[in-house]
Amino acid sequence: MFSVAREFSFSYGHRLYRYEGRCRRLHGHNARVVVEISGNGDTLNEMGMALDFTDIKATLGRWIDETLDHRVFLAEDDPLVQVLRDAGEDPLVFDGNPTAERLAKAIYDRAVAMGLRVSRVDFWETQNCRATYSRRDAERDDAPDKRG
Ligand SMILES: [Zn+2]
Repeated sequence: MFSVAREFSFSYGHRLYRYEGRCRRLHGHNARVVVEISGNGDTLNEMGMALDFTDIKATLGRWIDETLDHRVFLAEDDPLVQVLRDAGEDPLVFDGNPTAERLAKAIYDRAVAMGLRVSRVDFWETQNCRATYSRRDAERDDAPDKRG
């Protein structure tokens, strides 16, 4: 079967609340994300594509640009949330620390919500550190056995 992948990059700030290492400090990353989309088996469209790369950029890429890029990500119980809101900022709040793992899953979930047949999201927080989120077909929310 075919699959395609599109790479995105964006910048963000975060900190890991109640963490003992250096990431407890507010700091930033230039993230690189690779989103893999499954095709429809061996079927290609009339243009010979499993999915037009332009479509991924126009949907998920736009959301990444508008929602994730140049934002601060914080855990919901981090006192910085209110501090930043009081200063007129709009931090993106996560249920738990905004780790690379949670960012990979957030992007995966958004791709699913947009109707993309995402199979895997690789999220590089730095050049050397990557988190991946994927689900087997049977676990997908849109898998045939889970459709209501
Ligand atoms: Zn970090």
